[in-house]
Amino acid sequence: MSRSADVIVVGGGPIGLAAAINARMHELTALVIEPRTGTIDKACGEGVMPGAVTELAALGVHPRGRRIAGISYHDGTHIAEHRFASDAALGVRRTELHGALSERAAALGVEFEHGKVVAIEQHGDGSQGGVEARSGAVSAHLADGRTIEGQWMLGCDGLHSTVRELVGLAARPRRVRRHDSRRFGIRQHFEVEPWTDLVEVHWAANAEVYVTPVGDTEVGIAVLGPRGTSFEQAIASVPALAERLRGLTTTSSVQGAGPLLQNTTGQRSGRVLLVGDAAGYVDAITGEGIRLGLAEARAAIECIVAGEPERYEHEWRRITRDFRMLTTGLVAAANSPLRRAIVPLAARLPSVYGRVVESLGR
Ligand SMILES: Cc1cc2nc3c(=O)[nH]c(=O)nc-3n(C[C@H](O)[C@H](O)[C@H](O)COP(=O)(O)OP(=O)(O)OC[C@H]3O[C@@H](n4cnc5c(N)ncnc54)[C@H](O)[C@@H]3O)c2cc1C
Repeated sequence: MSRSADVIVVGGGPIGLAAAINARMHELTALVIEPRTGTIDKACGEGVMPGAVTELAALGVHPRGRRIAGISYHDGTHIAEHRFASDAALGVRRTELHGALSERAAALGVEFEHGKVVAIEQHGDGSQGGVEARSGAVSAHLADGRTIEGQWMLGCDGLHSTVRELVGLAARPRRVRRHDSRRFGIRQHFEVEPWTDLVEVHWAANAEVYVTPVGDTEVGIAVLGPRGTSFEQAIASVPALAERLRGLTTTSSVQGAGPLLQNTTGQRSGRVLLVGDAAGYVDAITGEGIRLGLAEARAAIECIVAGEPERYEHEWRRITRDFRMLTTGLVAAANSPLRRAIVPLAARLPSVYGRVVESLGR
């Protein structure tokens, strides 16, 4: 017999779990489909911005982490620094975040199914709103042949979303560029007492190196750059950082992700809504994926409950507007000769830099 739920959540990463928690908080049944087992780790800078800390608290999720007071930019000569005006951010290991969300989801009665979604069927035109539409309005077919029936589906399956492909919301690249401008991320953790209460962003020649304190004796180092960027070489190109990390014990293996830019033609197809990285992603340069995804998860469930699924795309654009604008602009500058001017400018214009950091952390 096939299982069913009001909301099928495809992907049990942080945003899928948050979406399922939101659904349960609105008295909807939720079933999360995830192919990986246990506590999930992922390449991430692990800066949970103040707005994300607030979103998590509203879900009843309080992960342990290291207080982050702000963000600083470094280029070896200049330093720009801004401390958040009110609430602090948190550096949180992904395993801790996943554990805290999983625990809350289980306590609220979220159901879980181990598997990978490989096909989706929508029955009817999906235009009618409300959760009381007939059951089996959308079906998720798993790789092992099982089927899960639901009234709504949230595609929370990350950067390389299968759901996005299956429902025809993936944008095809318009043209093949001669220069491959795609960017990737890599991270690893080191055992050391954090030397800063900020997220440090070191602008090396071809990559950005992020330092995020994630515990009393652990820092995460994340590197963003073009295809082929070497984690070791990027660190070596920031001598002050290389010196701090020399000889330290690593507490995780090197993990990567990308390409980061993922375009979509929309965020909804009938009864299927895309949430989190699956809905479209620009870059990790501003460290906001978790904050945005949490806000999108809340909006998606609110739209479903209100019987206004068509409002979700508008909400998604509203939630991501600043991120898309700022991140696209910063990546374009980072990929241009302007790159070398970014940190000196930020240091010379502290109020502008401060406003940007505040708007990213909201
Ligand atoms: C290097 C790097 C640094 C970053 N730094 C930060 C930062 O400092 N702060 C921040 O807020 N964000 C940061 N981000 C972004 C952040 O990691 C993402 O925005 C966040 O992980 C998105 O969560 P998600 O749940 O949407 O996707 P994911 O975490 O990718 O989860 C998707 C889940 O879907 C599952 N899945 C995939 N396919 C299927 C399928 N067919 N069926 C069922 N399940 C499936 C996967 O197994 C996975 O568990 C960074 C990203 C990178 C790459």
